[in-house]
Amino acid sequence: MALIIQKYGGTSVGSPEKIQAVAEKIIGYRAQGHQLVVVVSAMSGETDRLLGLAGAMSERPTPRELDVLLATGEQATIALLSMALEERGCPARSYTGAQVHILTDNAHNKARIREIDADRVAADLAAQHVVVVAGFQGVDDKGNITTLGRGGSDTTAVALAAALKADECQIFTDVDGVYTTDPRVEPDARRLERITFEEMLEMASLGSKVLQIRAVEFAGKYNVPLRVLSSFEEGDGTLITYEAEGMEQALISGIAFNRDEAKLTALGVPDQPGVAHLILGPIAAANIEVDMIIQNMAADGKTTDFTFTVHRNDFSRGLEILQKVAGGMGASEVVGDPKIVKISLVGVGMRSHAGIASSMFETLAKEGINIRMISTSEIKVSVVVDEKYLELGVRALHETFQLDQVVTA
Ligand code: ASP
Ligand code: MG
Repeated sequence: MALIIQKYGGTSVGSPEKIQAVAEKIIGYRAQGHQLVVVVSAMSGETDRLLGLAGAMSERPTPRELDVLLATGEQATIALLSMALEERGCPARSYTGAQVHILTDNAHNKARIREIDADRVAADLAAQHVVVVAGFQGVDDKGNITTLGRGGSDTTAVALAAALKADECQIFTDVDGVYTTDPRVEPDARRLERITFEEMLEMASLGSKVLQIRAVEFAGKYNVPLRVLSSFEEGDGTLITYEAEGMEQALISGIAFNRDEAKLTALGVPDQPGVAHLILGPIAAANIEVDMIIQNMAADGKTTDFTFTVHRNDFSRGLEILQKVAGGMGASEVVGDPKIVKISLVGVGMRSHAGIASSMFETLAKEGINIRMISTSEIKVSVVVDEKYLELGVRALHETFQLDQVVTA
């Protein structure tokens, strides 16, 4: 018998029929002898609908009241699912975040979980109940309802798993696991049996939107085995866990990409102490996040070219700021390109293998793809290329590293 936390996302509970199907699924797991705590999201589209209603009242609704409103989406689902379970003879109890005491800070709309009082849930489990908990919400120490930010139900599930020391946290969603890359770009993409927390964090932050990043961080921190699997199809999904000792490790786990990048360059900036700070200080002050940075010596040896990337939405604002500061520093020119993308190879197997980056560059060269920027970390190599090469680059790399098959390091 295992204690399992299951989370069903909005599409999995998107209609009365789907909620009934989830109830059947839960009963099946219970019949195998498992104890279950089930976390649910609002029915698909519901959170957006509520946001629309709030928008009709005020252009900037009070964050506290917005949380009171948004929390109703999940509250409806817990009641409906519990009714469906009870109707089928399965004892169930629904709880809001506040009721199971998911204590958060008071940052409305993006609150962080501080602690969970697991006693009430444990008592229900001991009484053979399925416990159904509203995702995405909690309560601050003054009793105000808070929400955890969009996609926050994943985090609720992981936090409950950590608090209850569950054997596994299962995230049921509309995809059947984590893939080597986006199957819409590379139809030969393969579902991974397992991936490490570190790799998953890289994949998630690089734009593979299967799980909320915060949930993956939380699971890694508390060592909660996390599994992503489909609500609609049978299968084992993908297990996210730590590298097991002696386990064969894939060389490359996946190729992540990000289409939302833009590049800004100041050419011919005097090469002096403080240049990076003078350029990036005002960018940071404008709340623009910088990703890659490259500074290289210009041909004259006295000046430097300074390039960095930002989110595409911040491109025009960033360009304006850069024109101002670079002008003041005597730069010769400021140029920008909002049509770039980042492609990254991710794999913990890289740590023990040389030559990954050079095969990556060779592959891109063969396809005639010009690399604009490069950055590396212990388990990742990223390149910036022109947007039009995204699909070609991803497919070529998928083939070079044989990601359609299991290749171990
Ligand atoms: N219902 C919330 C949202 O749509 C939370 C979640 O689904 O995880 O973002
Ligand atoms: Mg969701």
